[in-house]
Amino acid sequence: MTTTQSGPITHDAGETFEVRSPIDGSVAARLPLHGPDHVAAAAARLRAAQPAWEDLGPKQRCKYLLQWLDWIMDNERRLLDLVQKESGKSWGDTSFESVVAVQIINYVAKHAPKWLADVKVKPDGLLNKTKRLKVHARPYPLVGVITPWNFPLTMPLLDIPFALAAGAAVLSKPSEVTPLAWSEAARGWQEIGAPHVLECVTGLGATGAAVVDQVDMIQFTGSTRTGRAIAVRAAERLIPASLELGGKDAMIVLDDADLDRAVNGAVWGGLFNAGQVCISVERLYVHEGIYDEFVSRVSEKVAAIRQGTDTDHSFTNDIGAMATPAQVDIVDKHVQDALAKGARVLTGGTRGEVGNYYAPTVLVDVDHNMACMTEETFGPTLPIMKVGSEEEAVRLANDSPYGLAGSVWSRDAKRAEALAKRLDTGGVTLNNALTGVAQMGVPFGGWKSSGMGARNGGAYSVRKYTRQQALVGERVAMKSEMNWYPTTPENAGKMAKAVRLLGMHDWRRRFGKPAR
Ligand code: NAD
Repeated sequence: MTTTQSGPITHDAGETFEVRSPIDGSVAARLPLHGPDHVAAAAARLRAAQPAWEDLGPKQRCKYLLQWLDWIMDNERRLLDLVQKESGKSWGDTSFESVVAVQIINYVAKHAPKWLADVKVKPDGLLNKTKRLKVHARPYPLVGVITPWNFPLTMPLLDIPFALAAGAAVLSKPSEVTPLAWSEAARGWQEIGAPHVLECVTGLGATGAAVVDQVDMIQFTGSTRTGRAIAVRAAERLIPASLELGGKDAMIVLDDADLDRAVNGAVWGGLFNAGQVCISVERLYVHEGIYDEFVSRVSEKVAAIRQGTDTDHSFTNDIGAMATPAQVDIVDKHVQDALAKGARVLTGGTRGEVGNYYAPTVLVDVDHNMACMTEETFGPTLPIMKVGSEEEAVRLANDSPYGLAGSVWSRDAKRAEALAKRLDTGGVTLNNALTGVAQMGVPFGGWKSSGMGARNGGAYSVRKYTRQQALVGERVAMKSEMNWYPTTPENAGKMAKAVRLLGMHDWRRRFGKPAR
């Protein structure tokens, strides 16, 4: 493969698919369209290498992960150029993707060895006193990781280091829209001389489906529609599926919020990555007491956002293109639907003439009859609705099939937290947006149609890629035990007495006295 920034990247053999530049629609690359046979062969190679990987133990495995991190950072500029080429992001949004590599890999390398150690468990009840109990974690041999296009490097990196640290081999499938940077990062794993426990296959949805057919556990991030199809197939194969799906996050701004912070946070939370973040601010509920000022300041700030793709790495654009023309169509459809139903655009509301650009947009006079307030937009829009009370804000925020995250803005920490606990979402940020996903110590996962399971959260981040093996030993190993054969009335009687004596809660039942 060649990795120049000018012409298309090409591969030699077999069927291919095109990757198009979001900047101008030109063909940026052609990559192999891997079919089921290729995927099965990759799975077989990974399965062959996995037992030795598991035997290495977590410390040695983490050494390879840290070596890989060095490689990623040594090749940072080249990888980020690929991210920008395939996603059309501004350089500021692009640069964020290597930060995640540093955070995740350091985190997992620091903690995985202790998280994977056997856990001793105290036996329950006097009858089990003589048991020696341990829980041992063994990896799923082969984990599939299927990812979307919004963060070409970040998305695979949020999962794969944890699975590798757990001792699993990983078959990864990046989005067909943005496969370039990740294919190269996965090649880096081979280049550092690490065992062959990570492979990247490329292709469309069918390639993803072939991955699901080969693996022992699937970690998926993407749309609710695809997640549901994967859950069905996983159920047929009886393999676990961890699903991170779509969202429609609400931002609730109370009347006592720090207005400067709320305005700046709304604009960043709604527009970062051109709004293509699963936990973007997708809809806002603002208390009537501050609504007018909030709306006017947000509009002013959004109108000043600089849009474009600064391929010269100059940080002169705030937000870039959207990944696909289809995504621009969805955004425009939501805006047009809102306008047709009586909403007003205060700024933006137009698509670019060339490339996948949509101007950052503020919508007001919106309500829940409009798609912009109920369906995932995944674009640079801020639809703002006035609310008269906390009650109304909570009711509207919870009026959604999604339950990924949300945010509450107030100077009163107790008030904000109490309100946050009433939201039906897997996470809530207080006086901030988007930051929940970066907190590795707490679970990140969606409720309702936003997902199943959680992406990470302390020890769970690694242990989710393992199966729990219960080791039940004996402290005192007698020649025989009371309930072993032959059964006798004496032993059965002693057992029955012991069960009552140790398990009942009053003296009459403990000594088996008849009921009065
Ligand atoms: P998508 O569901 O269209 O595709 C995601 C991946 O699934 C791609 O790699 C695709 O090739 C693959 N795929 C498609 N059909 C498949 C099938 N039948 N079996 C297996 N794999 C298949 O999603 P997208 O458009 O790439 O991404 C946008 C969506 O991702 C949005 O809904 C967004 O909210 C969601 N997302 C969620 C999170 C989260 O953490 N909850 C994070 C980022 C994005």
